[in-house]
Amino acid sequence: MHTQIIPQKLTPVPGLSSDAIQLSLYRPSVMIIVIDSASSSSFLRSMPRTLQVLTDLYGVTVFRGLNKVADNSAPNAHAFLNGVRSDKLMIDDYVLKPEVPDWCHRYLNASKFIGTQFVKAGYVTMMADDGPKAIFGWPNCYGFKQKPIHHYLRPYHIRIDPDSMSSEEFAEDTADLLFQIREQQCKETYDVVMEYQKQFLNAYPASVPKFSLIWLTALTHDTINGLFHVDDYFAEFFRQYQSQLSNSFVFFMADHGPRWGDIREGYVGRLEDNNPMLVVAVPEPLRKNKQLKANMNMNANRLVSQYDVYTTLFDISTVAAQSNWTDLSAIDWTSKGFHKRQTSFLRPVDLTRSCRLMQIPELYCLCESDEKYISTDDPTVLSAAQYLTNQLMKQIDESGARTICADLSLVNIVMATTNIVRSFNGEQNRVEYVVMFMVAPSKGIFQGLVELVNGQFRMPSSRLSRINAYGTDSHCTQDALIMPVCYCRDLV
Ligand SMILES: [Zn+2]
Repeated sequence: MHTQIIPQKLTPVPGLSSDAIQLSLYRPSVMIIVIDSASSSSFLRSMPRTLQVLTDLYGVTVFRGLNKVADNSAPNAHAFLNGVRSDKLMIDDYVLKPEVPDWCHRYLNASKFIGTQFVKAGYVTMMADDGPKAIFGWPNCYGFKQKPIHHYLRPYHIRIDPDSMSSEEFAEDTADLLFQIREQQCKETYDVVMEYQKQFLNAYPASVPKFSLIWLTALTHDTINGLFHVDDYFAEFFRQYQSQLSNSFVFFMADHGPRWGDIREGYVGRLEDNNPMLVVAVPEPLRKNKQLKANMNMNANRLVSQYDVYTTLFDISTVAAQSNWTDLSAIDWTSKGFHKRQTSFLRPVDLTRSCRLMQIPELYCLCESDEKYISTDDPTVLSAAQYLTNQLMKQIDESGARTICADLSLVNIVMATTNIVRSFNGEQNRVEYVVMFMVAPSKGIFQGLVELVNGQFRMPSSRLSRINAYGTDSHCTQDALIMPVCYCRDLV
């Protein structure tokens, strides 16, 4: 069982004329490698050799202020790959509905997908994950109806997945194939994906602009130590492919940081979860562009979000390219149909942007506040934890899973902080509490943010973060929203 990329004859795409970039202009390739759950700090401490190669040969910019915009993979992927907010968000008294309601149970609109944008711009495109569900398919979501790009690795994973549709018909074969790949050839899932990436880079001449997106979940999703063992691999990959990537933007990045494990019970772990890695290389011909260099250096230390990643990729595919990279001054993205929360970090990013403006929920905001630790015995903290436990039960009720998921009760409080958020007019200050607590019978540890307004609690975000692994506790449901919360009744 192997993969291959057979070069396709690219035909003009309908609608190309309006979005197309003239062939005489410089059209750099784009390669995005997403390492699921890798924080900015974990990249720096785990991949020193890779960083050295990227610095020496690619002159990369390490962005230290990328903020995740939601709890887990899919909503962050919606932000940086589709440019939309898929979660509910409360700002003051206003509830902002998801921009893609119930996205899991309908096919995604591929027109917003950044890969589609590059197809329209005349690029040859590729996408690959390290599992059969793909970015928007986990655990049982619809995803795209048709593949939105030219080359797609998903059929390979479906063929070797024991749980996939083919399992009954090909059960024996599948077991053999998996044995060959994992035991005899000693391949991890990232090997297969990276081989496909290399095949893609080698399949087309350097003159053809390429867009590729790969998403590696298995490396560090379940352990923060997972990156160490691929440092040499990626250092060698980037060294070996320097010439093929000389006309390419490279985004080496993550969706969010570590979402669970011991590290998440402390302050540093919380910061790391909110601060995914983002390392960007610009193509060699553009490294001499003083305006671009100045902008990137400045923005590396500013707050940017996953929505900005989308706008930046859009900028590469259209606006910046249409000026032939001669004008990278700030522009009004709202005039191009973008929300004011997002901008391109190829251009100056406003220092004064707040998490509120950028639609980053308070719970994940990287900005320092006056947040203080308070006693876990504080009566208000106890009430807040009880309120959040009730919210977990409400989520179970709303998903119709009460009959299969056990009732949850508050066991103890792990950590609590409080913060006074000043309103613009100074009159309606709100008191916020971030509470980390454990519930029974699952021993699940959750973290949530509540506001106390006029003696009432409310939760501005639609979700609580589960910060320890739930394993097979929720085997009785396939509902992605409920899986971190549900402890199946048959286990009680
Ligand atoms: Zn993720």
